[in-house]
Formats: sequence, structure tokens, C-alpha cells
Amino acid sequence: MLPFIRLDLAQLTAYAPHSEGDLTAPVLPFALTKADQSDRLDTNESPFDLPDTLKQVLAQAYQERIEANRYPDGGHIALKRAIAEYVNESASLPQNQVNQAHISIGNGSDELIRSLLIATCLRGEGSILVAEPTFSMYAILARTLGILVAAVERSSVNFAIDLNAAEAAIRQIQAPPVRVVFVVHPNSPTGNALTDAEISWLRSLPEHILVVIDEAYFEFSQRTLVEEVLQRHNWVILRTFSKAFRLAAHRVGYAIAHPDLIAILEKVRLPYNLPTFSQLAALTALTHRQQILRTIPQMIEQRTQLTQKLTQHPALQVWSSTANFVFFRLHKEWSDKPDFLLHRICATLKSQGTLIRQTGDGIRITIGNEEENTRTFHRLKAALDQYL
Ligand SMILES: *Cc1c(COP(=O)(O)O)cnc(C)c1O
Repeated sequence: MLPFIRLDLAQLTAYAPHSEGDLTAPVLPFALTKADQSDRLDTNESPFDLPDTLKQVLAQAYQERIEANRYPDGGHIALKRAIAEYVNESASLPQNQVNQAHISIGNGSDELIRSLLIATCLRGEGSILVAEPTFSMYAILARTLGILVAAVERSSVNFAIDLNAAEAAIRQIQAPPVRVVFVVHPNSPTGNALTDAEISWLRSLPEHILVVIDEAYFEFSQRTLVEEVLQRHNWVILRTFSKAFRLAAHRVGYAIAHPDLIAILEKVRLPYNLPTFSQLAALTALTHRQQILRTIPQMIEQRTQLTQKLTQHPALQVWSSTANFVFFRLHKEWSDKPDFLLHRICATLKSQGTLIRQTGDGIRITIGNEEENTRTFHRLKAALDQYL
């Protein structure tokens, strides 16, 4: 270990996007031709690239309007306005109810998660609370900042948060106390939306605890707590362009919160955190949102079909999902070593060119296009038949 590095960082391993240790992966992703590519159903991206017509708009704008030698707009003004308009529309709110003062934009919502952690918990001032299984980035980013993570469980029946345990954790953890609760609506990897009981519990949390509601999958679930964020100064909603908006390559996420909290996020972020081309891509996507979001009913239909097919397999316990992925576990009676089996299944599919994600004691499959979903189901079924 390098002697000048914080001791707690020695225990951490770097986050490995896609599966770890893939030595065959090319260094430049764009050197791949589309034909070589696996079915990538492991990171919840959209299977649909941006339409060609919109790529042309962007390419032309790059050629004619972007000055590569100039820094980006560090205030994100045009994009904030466009996001605010979309947020109002998405929550059926009157125009200008949410405005640019309620919006902060990050280099992916990952950056916003880190900014929130920096603003709340750093210097030993706070711990965070998560309910597992959930999005791993909250805990990963917290640990890189030396922030303690308290985890409570979810029901193994419906993945509802164990609210008694959460209450107890908040009461008992004092060094340092819980400053932030992270929830995903709907949760990843399990696909369940917040229940009324969970929302009531979030409402009951005191004002010195920040509630982060991650709506990364809003466009699929169509459930949002935006209206309520306007009333509650200790709530913040996160959303992203990486999923339904098909812009994962451009790294754009945003926070919706009371202007006072937004002002803090603006203080914490790097001045030019969002490249000009990413701002333009997000703006273009919002301008053409009807066209871009048109694939969603199709993906929901595919989700229904895949869920039904998986449910018919006697070894699988499958949950219904309100996002763009499906989660299942192995029934206990079918395996006394589920982790080992799940690992084998994922490895087998990977060797066949299908990437799915082992997580939360189960497997999460992103909804791809119809062909990918069909192929993945057949490969999965064959692997199950082979190993069970
Ligand atoms: C995919 C995802 C995000 C998106 O992160 P970006 O950094 O915006 O790509 C955020 N939260 C959750 C729960 C996700 O699944």
C-alpha cells in the first residue's frame, strides 16, 4: 500500500462495470462492431440506440455550433430549463411549478450521490442508511469517502423495507448518526416501487435526515414523488438520462429539490462537470422525448412476457417489476448452494455471449430487444436444465 493513502481505502476494490476481469474486452468500446457484441442485459441500459436522425442532429451541431476549445456552460442554464419543463410534465404539475432553481445536474446521478454524501456526512458528521438489496453505488461511494453505511434488510416475500429495523438503526446509530436515507423508487435489483407504508415512514423522518429518492426508472414505473419534494425540504429526487432516455454514453443525471439544497449541490460540484456535448445530447433528447420514449410500452410488454416465461419455471421465484429489468431467485428446495449455482449460470451465459447480473442473492436481467430477450430466456433455461 502506498504510505500516503488513507488506510480505509486499502480494503476497497474498484467498482467493476460489467463482469470483473474480462481480459478479452477491447480497450476502446467503439472499436467493436455491432455484430461482435454480446447481449448486454446486465446494466439496465436501453437496448435501443439513439435514433439516427437525432445522432445526425448532434453530429451537425458538433460541427457547426460547438467550440471544442471553450469550456462548457458551467451553469447548465438551458438544460436546467428543459429538465424543469419535463419534470413538470412528467408529474402533471402546472408549468413553472418546478423551475431551474429546483434542479442540479450531475455527470450521471452517481456524481449527485457523491455530492450529497459530501454535503451531508463527510468529516464524520453522518452515516447513511440503505435497505439491501439495493443499488450498490450508495454504499460504494460512501465508503470511498470514509462514511459509515448502515444496512437493514428487506422482506424476502415482497422486498418491502424492514421499517422496524430501519427505525431502530436510526435510534441506535449515534457515532455518527444517520444523516441520509437512500431509497430507490422502484428499487434495483428487485423492481418494487415504494409502498404506502414506506412513503409514510419517509414522511415521518425528522428534518435533520435527508431522504434521497432515486427515480432512475421513473419512465418505466410512471410513479413519482416530485410533487411532494416541493413541500419537503429534506427530500431530494434523483433521475437520470442513462436508462429510458437512451443516453448512458453521455453521463447526465439530475436532482430535484428545494432551492436551498440545490444551492448546496451547486457549491459542491466541479465547475465544468458536464461536457458541452453531453448537455447538447440531453437537450436534444428532451426536445425529442416523445420519439425517444416511444419504445417504453414495447419494453414493458417484453418485461411482461419474460416475467411470465420465467415464472413458469418451477425452480425460479420471480417478482413482478415496475422497471426495465426482472429479478429472480432460486427456490430453496432446488438448491442448497444458490450462490454457486447462480454464478455458474451467469458464467455459462457469459461464455455464450449473454451478460446478466448476479446480485441480491438472485439474478437481474435487463429487458433488451425482443430477440435478445428470447435468446437469453432459452440460454437460461438450458443452463437451468443442465445444472439443476
Ligand atoms: C442506473 C441507475 C442510476 C443511474 O446512474 P447514472 O450515474 O446517472 O448513470 C442511478 N440510480 C440507480 C438506482 C440506477 O439503477
